[in-house]
Amino acid sequence: MIQILLFLLLQCSMSSRAPPKALLQDMVVPPRQLFGPGPSNMADSIAETQSKNLLGHLHPEFVQIMGDVRLGLQYIFKTENKYTFAVSGTGHSGMECAMVNLLEPGDKFLVVEIGLWGQRAADLANRMGIEVKKISAPHGKAVPVEDIQKAIAEYKPNLVFVCQGDSSTGVAQPLETIGDACREHGALFLVDTVASLGGTPFDADALKVDCVYSATQKVLNAPPGLAPISFSDRAIEKIRNRKQRVASFYFDALELGNYWGCDGELKRYHHTAPISTVYALRAALSAIAKEGIDESIQRHKDNSQVLYAALKNHGLEPFVEDEKLRLPCLTTVKVPEGIDWKDVAGKMLTNGVEIAGGLGATVGKIWRIGTFGINSNKTKIENVVELLSKSINETRMYCFINLYYF
Ligand code: PMP
Repeated sequence: MIQILLFLLLQCSMSSRAPPKALLQDMVVPPRQLFGPGPSNMADSIAETQSKNLLGHLHPEFVQIMGDVRLGLQYIFKTENKYTFAVSGTGHSGMECAMVNLLEPGDKFLVVEIGLWGQRAADLANRMGIEVKKISAPHGKAVPVEDIQKAIAEYKPNLVFVCQGDSSTGVAQPLETIGDACREHGALFLVDTVASLGGTPFDADALKVDCVYSATQKVLNAPPGLAPISFSDRAIEKIRNRKQRVASFYFDALELGNYWGCDGELKRYHHTAPISTVYALRAALSAIAKEGIDESIQRHKDNSQVLYAALKNHGLEPFVEDEKLRLPCLTTVKVPEGIDWKDVAGKMLTNGVEIAGGLGATVGKIWRIGTFGINSNKTKIENVVELLSKSINETRMYCFINLYYF
């Protein structure tokens, strides 16, 4: 009898669990102008793809779309690399994929650190038990390439990591000659272009880059969720000759390469690609192909000048002093003395515009203004700086009133 009662009680308590109230309401997504470090706004031609019906991930039409994406990625990375595809995951998955394939126990890893992303690469390598050496620059500066060449010659690493555009500082690290030094000393050259691809010059083959990864949510204006990546023949040779198998199945470059049709072999099931995000990437690459990759880079450069001029007009200063080292698609701005960056960013957000504060060591010191893809536009940029200046003045006024009356 007691057992029956207990059973009934359990049944009652199980069936009486109410669904979360929040999920009975419609989702709220306010319009927002995304001028932070990413994601950026989606272009209409890309947003439209998100309501298209799904295809099976091995259907011939989807295989064709994957093929188009590979061609588009070779175009924007400027490479002939066969192993050029997109990892299912955000920018971090590109970093993890590159590192788990290109490093193995006993290897030495040289990290060029100009901000948070070098630290992140070093952290990942530490987790993998890999010996790491860092060569760093003070925040807001780049590491001179001569110092990098010297470090490669002395340390003789197996892999060298450089972040081309560090979104925590707004610095664009020069890459020229690093690839040559890597070849001379038997190292592979790995570049993070998550925040820079399409917004500043990059030529994987001319720079002798062995692996480069990026992300979809910055200059490409697509939703986050894929990490474009490309491996040189040297990199693939190293992966094929590893003493140990790659510890990750999901990020195994040879398996992924087969799934994306890079090796000319019969395609095997690896995972289910995020179909809609692949559509979005195809549309993003189509938009860049129509504009031209060099034209896109030039537009970002021209509009960075518009941004610098607007900042100057409003008495604001870029954080990166040397203009040649500024990342054209992401500008860091010094927070004026006595101003709370958060109050200002909060005021902008209530006006529907996002800019971000610093990241890692730059928190509190800077704002970060991303002008990626369609947001690299003269009028939009001038409006954002106008609103930034207005928000700063309002914050100043509020501080003054507070001081005066209380
Ligand atoms: N590298 C750089 C330079 C980045 O700016 C970011 C993201 N802001 C990442 C890597 C990581 O990308 P995600 O957030 O898409 O994982």
